[in-house]
Amino acid sequence: MQELQRQLVELAERGMLRSLRCIDSAQGPRVSVDGEEKLLLCSNNYLGLANHPLLVEAAIKATRDFGTGSGASRLVSGSMNLHHRLEERLAGFKGTEAALVFNSGYAANNGIIQGLLGPADVVFSDRLNHASIIDGCRLSGARVLVFEHNDMAALEALMRQESANRKGRWLIVVDGVFSMDGDLAPLDQLVRLKQRYDAWLMVDDAHGGGVLGDSGRGTGEFFGCSDSIDLQMGTFGKAYGSFGAYLAASRAIVDTLINRARSFIFSTSLPPGVLAANLAAIDLIAGSEGQRRRQQLAFNRALFSRILLDAGLDLCGSQTQIVPILIGEPAPTMAIADELFRQGIFLSGIRPPTVPAGTCRLRATLMADHSQAELQQAARLIVATIAGELARND
Ligand SMILES: *Cc1c(COP(=O)(O)O)cnc(C)c1O
Repeated sequence: MQELQRQLVELAERGMLRSLRCIDSAQGPRVSVDGEEKLLLCSNNYLGLANHPLLVEAAIKATRDFGTGSGASRLVSGSMNLHHRLEERLAGFKGTEAALVFNSGYAANNGIIQGLLGPADVVFSDRLNHASIIDGCRLSGARVLVFEHNDMAALEALMRQESANRKGRWLIVVDGVFSMDGDLAPLDQLVRLKQRYDAWLMVDDAHGGGVLGDSGRGTGEFFGCSDSIDLQMGTFGKAYGSFGAYLAASRAIVDTLINRARSFIFSTSLPPGVLAANLAAIDLIAGSEGQRRRQQLAFNRALFSRILLDAGLDLCGSQTQIVPILIGEPAPTMAIADELFRQGIFLSGIRPPTVPAGTCRLRATLMADHSQAELQQAARLIVATIAGELARND
């Protein structure tokens, strides 16, 4: 115990201690944090659906009709009608033969990669992929070859080199939208490579699903290449405003995972209320309200980023509603985040190991229902607070 205490003190001294804040209200553009109202700039509730009346009503009705718990894992007695309806709806929406619901994005990435690959196989993984992909790769026992972020020449060089003594399956795996930089994987080029070298392509669209593409189908729709993505993974906890995750893929892949993915097999399935909210979210996202909310989010992003870019800040090449603001070292990054919090702006300071050393950043995430005035005011305050902190350290 004493050793744990010492380690915690040491973390705090280096500005690296993480702790929890308590939110006392529903997730909206403004939230109450420990009793004080803040502008929320670090939620993944991009379309504002997490507290939408249609989702809330769907969850309540399903809970009344079917209860709070599914009672078992899917392969025992926990495969309820709602799981099957959600999977059919998803496969229809994504245009695939089949879909499979997982309990979270973390569980999905773990289970998909572990369930499909083994020690004879090779994964080609972008350096900035989400931690759940990295953990899934480890769990699979496959050989993992990491290529520099979005570097297609480096990826092709690795694939060419590996071709000589190829044995097992090959999987290229990327985030559609990268969670810390807010930039996109070049899916058009990845599709060409996966075809040339006969690999599977898996896209984790946690941040693109619901947001990108004319009908919200995600990064694949944005690039017009969904049909060529073998494994379309996404989550319900972000733009969908609910909880859980899915894989849309061929029937053979889904049936394999039902038999092999440990995170799918050995865990109680999602409860009825969550499943019904997910179904309501798909309807909303696919319809005109989804389209309106996507347009509003794109407008908000342009407005907010423009003010920061005009002030000379480095936004790490962000192309989306995830807007990182590069600072560098952990201490000033956290000092700026704390000062902004005192001034009513709740955003996150991001440090290693989440991002590489020397690239600590503030990370703002935008929502469709932030107002123009809120975002303008917040962006100006961010610019002024960064300037103040940097001046103090000169
Ligand atoms: C959030 C996220 C996940 C994990 O999803 P959860 O449903 O929150 O477990 C996986 N991949 C990426 C890229 C994410 O951003």
